[in-house]
Amino acid sequence: MKTYLKTMMLSAVCAVSSCGGPTQEDGFEFTNERFADIQMLRYRVDGFEQLSLQQKTFIYYLQEAALWGRDILFDQNGRYNLQIRDLLEKTYRDYKGDRTDADFVAMEEYLKRVWFSNGIHHHYGADKFIPGFSREWFVKHSGCTDDQLLEVIFNPEVMAKRVNLAEGEDLILTSAMNYYGEGVTQAEAEEFYAKMKAEGDPQRPVMYGMNSTLVKGSDGTLREDVWTTTGRYGEQLLQIVKNLKAARPFAEDSLQQVVLDKLISFYETGCLKTFDEYSIAWLQNTEPLVDFVNGFTESYGDPLGMKASWESIVNFKDLEATKRTLLLSDNAQWFEDNSPVNPAFKKEKVKGVSAKVIRAAILGGDLYPSTAIGINLPNSNWVRAEYGSKSVTIGNLTYAYAQASKGSGMGEEFAFGPEELEIMKKYGDVTDDLHTDLHECLGHGSGKLLPGVDPDTLKAYGSTIEEARADLFALYYLADPKLVELGLMPDAEAYKASYIGQMQNGILTQLVRIKPGDKIEEAHMRNRALIARWAMALGKGKAAGGADVIEMPVRDGKTYVKINDYEALRQVFGEQLAEIQRIKSEGDFNAARTLVEEYGVQIDPALHNEILERYKALDIAPYKGFINPRYTAVRDEKTNEITDVTISYDEAYDEQMLRYSRDYGFGY
Ligand code: ZN
Repeated sequence: MKTYLKTMMLSAVCAVSSCGGPTQEDGFEFTNERFADIQMLRYRVDGFEQLSLQQKTFIYYLQEAALWGRDILFDQNGRYNLQIRDLLEKTYRDYKGDRTDADFVAMEEYLKRVWFSNGIHHHYGADKFIPGFSREWFVKHSGCTDDQLLEVIFNPEVMAKRVNLAEGEDLILTSAMNYYGEGVTQAEAEEFYAKMKAEGDPQRPVMYGMNSTLVKGSDGTLREDVWTTTGRYGEQLLQIVKNLKAARPFAEDSLQQVVLDKLISFYETGCLKTFDEYSIAWLQNTEPLVDFVNGFTESYGDPLGMKASWESIVNFKDLEATKRTLLLSDNAQWFEDNSPVNPAFKKEKVKGVSAKVIRAAILGGDLYPSTAIGINLPNSNWVRAEYGSKSVTIGNLTYAYAQASKGSGMGEEFAFGPEELEIMKKYGDVTDDLHTDLHECLGHGSGKLLPGVDPDTLKAYGSTIEEARADLFALYYLADPKLVELGLMPDAEAYKASYIGQMQNGILTQLVRIKPGDKIEEAHMRNRALIARWAMALGKGKAAGGADVIEMPVRDGKTYVKINDYEALRQVFGEQLAEIQRIKSEGDFNAARTLVEEYGVQIDPALHNEILERYKALDIAPYKGFINPRYTAVRDEKTNEITDVTISYDEAYDEQMLRYSRDYGFGY
């Protein structure tokens, strides 16, 4: 599970300069080019040069393994994505005409968006991109005569949405993601997996369906096309395995070698039991400085929440910042015991929550170029309950975001008044980081399912409820004196920054990411809307003196969010946490649906328009992503052994994408 950047990092208001140009620090430019709704950034991997040769070599092979999985994700996101990418890249490279021609410029932007999304649908909203260039122009310059492909690109009705979560529709047939073969219906898929689960181990269920495409044979029967080195995605997985094997001798301890062995075995066999063994070894392997995620991980891209997209991150510990998360994990049991949740849904013994602050060295698959800032894995409920989980906050990425957003003007525009702005300027940085730590390290790891509750019961609402659970856990505890006592919060007022941020974002600012007329689709966004609007409803008349806890005052035609009683809001968050945990623990599908549909989906069109107008005036890109650094192995001429690994940051976005397609692709 993941934490993603909110629309407005609170630190965005720590505006020192109002410069709109590239943000620099010792000559390093955090911001790069901008296109469509995207701002590209770079992150710096401080400390890489100081690593040992063994660690650098280990990272080198792991980052190769990270880059080799890119095409898996493209294909998972849609069955024509690789063909379309290839066609666009060829046209982009070979075009002989005027590169300032409007059609070419529009195609260039379209291609940059396809790269960014790993497919033809928006990475966050999941809607298909509308090309700004004509079909005739494209046919002429690409030479494409494949009508089906052209329909997929140009006809807005065809494969309109990557993931459709609209209630009452067949979520598989109406979603363009490629996890289910032609003609497989939602009812058939649900029946297929219900049967599989019924026959499996109810105590320790594997992650059913996680690593396969469910296809229908010519006789109408369903079967899994499993993703292994000898099955689907075999070409990519063979290369990944080759690099994992090359990395193995440079692992930092023997358990890390076991982790690699289990992962390799999983890629070779597709055995989900092996995957659980790998997950357990991985979460227990906390000593090494260098660590990685490589595999089929998150299920946000499957409307049924089972199939896992491929992703990778290679990283190493930031030892200084990790002291912060260690304090939290050392006190994990205290947080569990003191939460407002019904004791029946609590863990009697919180197991092995390990937490650290890391520096990303490379991002791959579903973490590239758009990325998470916090990760908590594994996702298997029983593994988490029996063995715990590993949680990370990615420090160099949040830092890059904060640098890049300085002077954006968001804080000034949306804060209710100078008092709110001052609190956010003063405390935004520290509470943002701590929110992510609490969300990943304690929130996702807290609570338990009642015996016999199927972890997939909440279906399309599961991801939203899970994110709400982790966020509410964080919000509730950010205001706890315990954090000041532990030295994690500077004083008893600091938490207010996160409360302001949560309410402003959930009610107002995150709407900038949504097109007029659309609903809220993405799980993290639904979660933030759900918490904020539900809190508003629950807080009616509950503030000191009988006022509402949260108000939405309008001034000069602009809507704001005002918190009248922070203490009371904390009680509301506690109440919400208790209910969300109950829903999760009992698998109460109807309650999940009611809450999400009532508070997490709809948008008031008038408010939406107003927010979009105000945002437009600020001229900020709502989404950000990263260009990776480039690693080069320096080899001994005679032995071919690696003698050093160098890092550089000078690659342009299109250069990097074209290189990845060339060096880590198979040509379609
Ligand atoms: Zn999360």
